[in-house]
Amino acid sequence: MKFQDFKGGVHPSQKKNTMECATVKMGIPEKIVIPMVQHIGAPCQALVKKGDSVKVGQVLGNSDAFVSVPVHSSVSGVVSSVDERIISGSKPVVCVEIKPDGLQEISEDVKPPVVDSKEAFMKAIRASGLTGLGGAGFPTHVKLNPPKDTKIDTLIINGAECEPYITSDYRECMENTSNIIEGINHVLKWTGIPRALIGIEDNKPEAIKKLAEAVDSMNSISVHSLKSRYPQGAEKMLIKTLTGREVPSGKLPSEVGCLVMNVASVSFVAEYLKTGMPLIKKRVTVDGSSVKTPKNVEVLIGTPIGEVFNFSGGFISEPAKLIMGGPMMGVALYSDEIPVMKYTNALLALDEKDGKIPQEYACIRCGRCVDVCPMNLLPFDIDRLVKANLHDELEKYSVLDCIECGACAYTCPSKRLLTQSIRLGKDVLRRRAKK
Ligand code: SF4
Ligand code: SF4
Repeated sequence: MKFQDFKGGVHPSQKKNTMECATVKMGIPEKIVIPMVQHIGAPCQALVKKGDSVKVGQVLGNSDAFVSVPVHSSVSGVVSSVDERIISGSKPVVCVEIKPDGLQEISEDVKPPVVDSKEAFMKAIRASGLTGLGGAGFPTHVKLNPPKDTKIDTLIINGAECEPYITSDYRECMENTSNIIEGINHVLKWTGIPRALIGIEDNKPEAIKKLAEAVDSMNSISVHSLKSRYPQGAEKMLIKTLTGREVPSGKLPSEVGCLVMNVASVSFVAEYLKTGMPLIKKRVTVDGSSVKTPKNVEVLIGTPIGEVFNFSGGFISEPAKLIMGGPMMGVALYSDEIPVMKYTNALLALDEKDGKIPQEYACIRCGRCVDVCPMNLLPFDIDRLVKANLHDELEKYSVLDCIECGACAYTCPSKRLLTQSIRLGKDVLRRRAKK
């Protein structure tokens, strides 16, 4: 297959320190906190109250909305509170806190689903609580149900994992190869998509080899080695590289006949159809200059991140910054009480040197941010308009196309906080559109 290339991109130091760290299971924490929103879409209503006993895999919250997924208990124990908390951003979210009893009694509702039709498959995927495990948090059953008039001919499996530090998908490829292929086959069968392309960056040769061997005799699935360049794993870049198709501004991959799923997501599909155990655990890369023993950890969803850092040996230096996700696109956390969520793929603790916010200097109009922007935007101009509150002019700059990859800020010699500024611009435009 002849690959296309996407414009721009950068080469941050990879820091994949945990590539050879096989996943280790963390035990049951002292408490579990399950937010009723861990996905893009409508929040769930809590179905339990303080004092209720719950079991592993029991539904704790659900919603009637199509764009939503249920949330489940990752432990057995007693609900100690149902209240609103700030998790990320500024909006409070209803959270169910559970005191585990250590028994890990499994709910009677946990049994493999009967899947004998496309409808039953979609219903099962929703019931599993699956959202994109690569970090996006988009409900998978919604993704698998594109508008009726769209024809999907390619399932793209994202194994690029281009952010520095993160190796959780790499470990999925190494440790659960057969589940990945089984999950892809389920998706192809029940959606009717004829082919799947697995894309992995060429800095993971062992994973490429393992998956290529596993699909050797299969005509419908192929494995492709991609050049290591950030943000190769962004949906639009992956589609462009693997198929040559360009997703138009403001549109979804289905517009160009593609559906993108993460390696961990398809692997979970296979596991769920076999066991019926919903999404209650997550593999997380724990790393960063302040972490004593970086590792890949299998964590129960709802575990406070402070406990995950403790499980990784604690800190060797006072962290200046805690991040959920990678250093390019992750979210800075204000507290180590925040729980691991469905979309958490990494937890980083960075020391003073790596984590401090740099001093911004004036833009020198060097144009480097324009050169590296994979979405053909003009980051320095957008930054200028946002800072000057020139919102009418901002409308002309396709700001909503920004995928917030941070490549512009990474390359800027003046250390302009371009991503934050563009994010602000996107918020302003969205609020204006709502009005
Ligand atoms: S403007 Fe947006 S898409 Fe372009 S490099 Fe910056 S963060 Fe990435
Ligand atoms: S890279 Fe930085 S200094 Fe150069 S044009 Fe962009 S914002 Fe200005």
